[in-house]
Amino acid sequence: MNRTDILKKLAVKSDNWDFIVIGGGATGAGVAIEAATRGYGVLLLEQHDFGKGTSSRSTKLIHGGVRYLQQGNISLVLEALHERGLLLANAPHLVHKLGFIVPAYHWWQLPFYATGLKIYDLLAGRYRFGRSKILSKSQTMAHLPTIEQKNLKGGILYFDGQFDDARLIINMIQTAQEHGAEALNYVPVTKLIVQNNLVRGVLAHDVETGKEYEIRSKVVINATGVFADSVCEMSEPGCTPMIRPSQGIHLVLDKSFLPGDFAMMIPKTDDGRVLFAIPWDNYALIGTTDTPVESIDLEPRPIEAEVDFLLQHAARYLMKKPVEKDVLSIFAGLRPLVKSTKEKSTKSISREHSLLLSQTGLVTITGGKWTTCRKMGEDTINFAEKSFGYRSRASVTHKLKIHGSADNPVDYHELSIYGTDADSLRRLIESKPEYSQKLHDDLPIIAGEVVWAVRYEMARTVEDFLARRRRVLFQDARKSILMAKKVAEIMAQELGQDSNWMIEQEREFTTLAQNYIYG
Ligand SMILES: Cc1cc2nc3c(=O)[nH]c(=O)nc-3n(C[C@H](O)[C@H](O)[C@H](O)COP(=O)(O)OP(=O)(O)OC[C@H]3O[C@@H](n4cnc5c(N)ncnc54)[C@H](O)[C@@H]3O)c2cc1C
Repeated sequence: MNRTDILKKLAVKSDNWDFIVIGGGATGAGVAIEAATRGYGVLLLEQHDFGKGTSSRSTKLIHGGVRYLQQGNISLVLEALHERGLLLANAPHLVHKLGFIVPAYHWWQLPFYATGLKIYDLLAGRYRFGRSKILSKSQTMAHLPTIEQKNLKGGILYFDGQFDDARLIINMIQTAQEHGAEALNYVPVTKLIVQNNLVRGVLAHDVETGKEYEIRSKVVINATGVFADSVCEMSEPGCTPMIRPSQGIHLVLDKSFLPGDFAMMIPKTDDGRVLFAIPWDNYALIGTTDTPVESIDLEPRPIEAEVDFLLQHAARYLMKKPVEKDVLSIFAGLRPLVKSTKEKSTKSISREHSLLLSQTGLVTITGGKWTTCRKMGEDTINFAEKSFGYRSRASVTHKLKIHGSADNPVDYHELSIYGTDADSLRRLIESKPEYSQKLHDDLPIIAGEVVWAVRYEMARTVEDFLARRRRVLFQDARKSILMAKKVAEIMAQELGQDSNWMIEQEREFTTLAQNYIYG
C-alpha cells in the first residue's frame, strides 16, 4: 500500500481503466475486490481515509438482521445470513461469533422470540452460527451479570457475528490490491468527465500535493454512500436525489457496565427499533438510533435527544445505570438509505441495496449494509458487465480469503487483529527496542504498530491511526488525545515530516477528538 508508488503509476496510466470506483467504504472496497478478481483494471479513489465515512461507524455486527425478520423481509435476512457465513469463513481474524440474549420481562416473550429466533437459525441453514435456546432467569443473569433483574423471566440466546469494521476495510483494500487493483486515500473526485453525454472518467486531486489528475475509464462507479447524490450531480446537474440519510449514534462505556462475553438485544425500544449492548474489546458499545437528518457530513454530530434516548434505555435494562460522565466515547454515522415514496420513517426503509444507471452511464450502488458488501460488489459488476457490453466473467469472491485471513487468530495473541500479518509485524517490533513501547499505560497499543500502519496500511495522519488502524478514538476519546503527540512523532519520522507537521497533526486530532467526548 505505497501511496507514492501508486500516484507515480497513475501519472503514467491515466486512461484505459476498466472501472474507476469512487468511495473507499465497505461498498467501494467490495466492488473493487469483485472487479479486480475478475481480472479488470480497477482504480479506487477515496476523498479522505479508507473507511472514514459510515463504514467505520457501524454497530460492528455481521448479522442477518433479526429486525428485518420482524419486518417480514425474509429475502434480505436470507441473503445477509449467507453473506455472514461467507465473511466469517473469509476473514476469521476480524469476524467472530457472538452470543446475544434477548431478555424477557413478560412470559409471552419467551415463546414469541424463541420461535422467531428458531426461524432465524433455520434460515441460516449450513451457515448457522449456533443454536438458539431459551434461558431461565438464573441462566440469563449468569450470561449477563449486570442485567436488570426486576420482573426478569428469562431470556433467549441466539448467535450473530461481530467484527472490526475499519480494520476490515483496510484488509479488503489490500485484498483488492493483491488482485491488481489500485487504491488511493486522500484523492477526492471533484468532477466527472462527460463526453457525448457519457461519463468517461474523473478529475481528482491528491490532497497532500494538490496535483490534479485526469483519469479515464470505461465505467465509473459511484460507491460514495450518503454522498451518492453529490456525485450524481457531477454528471447530471439537477438529478433527482435518492439518498435519505438517517443518523445512528453509539455510546461507548467501560466494560463494567456489561461484563462477560455476551451481548444484549432489546427487540423493541420506545420508538420501535432494536437496541444493542455489546461487549467490544474492553468496553461496552450501546446503540443505535435512527434519526432522519438533512445535512451530510463526514463527521456527523450526535443530537442530545439521541444520547438521552440511549442512556435512558441502557438504564432500563442494566443494573449499573450509565450517566453522561460514564461515556468514554460517542460517535455518529449516516445510513445511506435509498428514498422510497411510500415509507415515512427511516427505520422502515429497506436496507436492501439499489443499483442505478444514470442517463450518462454513471453506475451508482448504494443502500445495503456492511454484511452484504461482497454481494453488492458482485451485483454491481454483473450489472456493469451487462450494461457496458463486457463479456460476463464468473465471480470468485464467495471463497476469496481476505488479506490477513487466519483460521486461529488467537495464536497471534495481542496482535490477532492483524491476522497473518502479525508475524511480520512482530519481526518489525523486535527490530528496535523503542517499537515495543506502549503508547498509553492502560492500552495494549505499541509504537511499532504506528510504523506498521504508515509503511503497510497507508495511514497518513494521526487520525488514521488512532481512529481506524486502531480504534482508540472510538473507544476512549480522552485517552486517544493523550496518545496523539507520540503518534505524531513516530509518523513524522516515517513520513519525513517536520515538527510543524507534528504540532498541526496533534492540534487537528485533538480538535476532532473533542467531538467524541460527551459532556
Ligand atoms: C449507525 C449505523 C450502524 C450500522 N451498523 C451496521 C452493522 O452493525 N452491520 C451492518 O452490516 N451494517 C451496519 N450499518 C450499515 C453500514 O455501515 C453501511 O451500509 C455501510 O458502511 C455503507 O458503506 P458505503 O461504502 O456505502 O458508505 P461509506 O462508508 O460512507 O463510504 C463512502 C465513501 O465515499 C467517500 N466519498 C464521498 N464522496 C467522494 C468523492 N467525491 N471522491 C472520493 N470519495 C468520496 C467518502 O469519504 C466515504 O468514505 C450501520 C450503519 C449505521 C449508520
